[in-house]
Amino acid sequence: MNQSDPHAHPTPIDTPEVLANSAPDPEKAGLSQAAFALLSPADRAKYAMGWLHTARFLTTAAQLHHLPAYDLPEIAFVGRSNAGKSTCINVLTQQKRLAYASKTPGRTQHINLFALGRQGQTDAVLADLPGYGYAAVPKQDKIRWQQVMANYLLTRDNLRAVVLMCDPRHGLTELDDILLDVLRPRVEEGLKFLVLLTKADKLNRTEGAKALSIAKLQAGGGEVKLFSALKKQGVDEVASLLYDWMHT
Ligand code: GDP
Repeated sequence: MNQSDPHAHPTPIDTPEVLANSAPDPEKAGLSQAAFALLSPADRAKYAMGWLHTARFLTTAAQLHHLPAYDLPEIAFVGRSNAGKSTCINVLTQQKRLAYASKTPGRTQHINLFALGRQGQTDAVLADLPGYGYAAVPKQDKIRWQQVMANYLLTRDNLRAVVLMCDPRHGLTELDDILLDVLRPRVEEGLKFLVLLTKADKLNRTEGAKALSIAKLQAGGGEVKLFSALKKQGVDEVASLLYDWMHT
């Protein structure tokens, strides 16, 4: 990619053609949702973590029309800047620096896509969207980015699920609420939605329960879970849920 122009069309590492041609080979493809459901919870978590571990950088784009169109289910990770999104993605994929690829200069305002599934058998895409609400970003850039994100959430055809990261000590902020409003019609049409209350290790039991019930009221039908990258709380459940959602 041309680093001097952040809006230049990126060169995908794994080309869309490779993905489009990766028709599932039943011998090599991952477990179907039905087969996955037959596993014990512990085996489901192990299998789902193995699947998430396959995550590899696919491509980066500053604008929606630069994103390749895939006929693969996509899961988007969104959240206010500093909510713990990169740490969460790194813990789920068990790759220390994966999501930090999204924090490298020139990519902080990009949508970064990662392929999931065995090489040549990609069966889902993980989209890491830039954190919003960072005070130091110029207003013009903030507005531009909010439009890109709203358009992505409204129009991305293969978007199957959204994970919204939220630091429960701050609760859902105004920007989170706007995002929930944007998402609502798609959630009503079947888009899966999960709110992760991050850094749960910083809350005691009572605070955790309270944060959970408040977020459940606000999440409008979506799932809400406490999550701690530090204590590995919620990791197995989230991994299993994502595998299930991406293989329906
Ligand atoms: P992002 O901007 O949303 O990608 O947030 P980061 O993943 O960079 O995390 C922001 C800050 O929160 C960093 O200082 C992390 O170390 C911290 N953090 C992330 N997850 C956890 C967690 O589970 N527990 C605690 N205590 N801190 C966390």
